[in-house]
Amino acid sequence: MEKLEKFKSLGLSENTLKALSRKGFEEPSPIQEKTIPYLLSGEKNVIGQAQTGTGKTAAFGIPLVEKLNRKPGSVQALILTPTRELAVQVSEEINSLRGYKKLKIMPIYGGASIEAQIRELKKGIDIIVGTPGRVIDHINRGTLDLSKISFFILDEADEMLNMGFIEDVEKILSKTNNEKRMLMFSATMPSKIKVLAKKYMGEFDIISVKEEQLTTDLAEQIYFEVRKSDKFEALSRIIDVEENFYGLVFTRTKVDAEEVANRLIDRGYSAEALHGDISQYQRERILKKFKTKNSNILVATDVAARGIDIENLTHVINYSLPQNPESYVHRIGRTGRAGNEGTAITFVTPEEYRKLLFIKRFAKAEIKKSTIPEIKDVIN
Ligand code: ADP
Ligand code: MG
Repeated sequence: MEKLEKFKSLGLSENTLKALSRKGFEEPSPIQEKTIPYLLSGEKNVIGQAQTGTGKTAAFGIPLVEKLNRKPGSVQALILTPTRELAVQVSEEINSLRGYKKLKIMPIYGGASIEAQIRELKKGIDIIVGTPGRVIDHINRGTLDLSKISFFILDEADEMLNMGFIEDVEKILSKTNNEKRMLMFSATMPSKIKVLAKKYMGEFDIISVKEEQLTTDLAEQIYFEVRKSDKFEALSRIIDVEENFYGLVFTRTKVDAEEVANRLIDRGYSAEALHGDISQYQRERILKKFKTKNSNILVATDVAARGIDIENLTHVINYSLPQNPESYVHRIGRTGRAGNEGTAITFVTPEEYRKLLFIKRFAKAEIKKSTIPEIKDVIN
């Protein structure tokens, strides 16, 4: 729990801290650091502004799960998002933040069965994350009562207050009460938003975080977009195009480390797995073998690789995306040290793209998109 000190100092409960720890969050991002205590204590309406990928969802999601308790009778918070995908994503993120609290969170969007949504709503939902059209649909059918909400949140507020949505938003707002707290989160804040914010919120504060600069003093860093099922093939190609591959491959779990190493061995590579279930004695043997280049691929979990010092690696490969920027920096700090050339490659599935943005931002790393080596480059 030591790692979560900064989150703890923002006034979070043990339950939330545990949920954050399970998600691999170690430190709050600047927008989270500013908005969490603000939203936990005050009553004021707020516009929160920070770049895409800086964790705005948790910036309002954490205070929400802290402040609300299960109340089957009425919806307590409504979050509006411009797209279905975002509704699902935001709903999942908040659900993963609630820990053991029995709050019910549900996404409501068009294209999905309305009957199923009505059945769920009847059970009593605490936090709704919805797209405007479907929310209005439910209001019209009398299946969604917003009169008692205490939070009304616009995610991607700049878009929600654009032509396409503004009438819907106004209509939904008219079904709420005057005591609720309003929050708007956005990456940009055109003056038009401020004017509309004034119209809907009256008094409000602006919490904004300015752009983070990226730096490039670490090794060459690239990422590949790879589906999960293609990761192994991508890894073998990377190994094959490099004449003297000598690399560390990071996986999230022990099982993955074991599996990747075994598949590499089956294909005739000289690989070893290193993880927490391997005895101290074995670990030392494996490390020695790797350091003396009697094996050239080490597949490791973060924990197992902590503190080990290996020189002249040609590659560090993030087979699984690290959980936070600290872990990213830690992993790739092992290559390109002391003027040595080295490449850090990160695999990203389409679902993980936002996480990569977050890591890029707070590791202050320039991670450029690249493509997986073609078969023709591999076969020679
Ligand atoms: P935004 O809404 O600002 O674009 P998101 O809320 O979608 O950003 O967050 C981007 C990604 O960063 C998500 O994968 C989220 O889980 C992750 N994330 C958010 N806060 C943290 C944190 N404190 N530590 C690690 N990852 C985080
Ligand atoms: Mg967002």
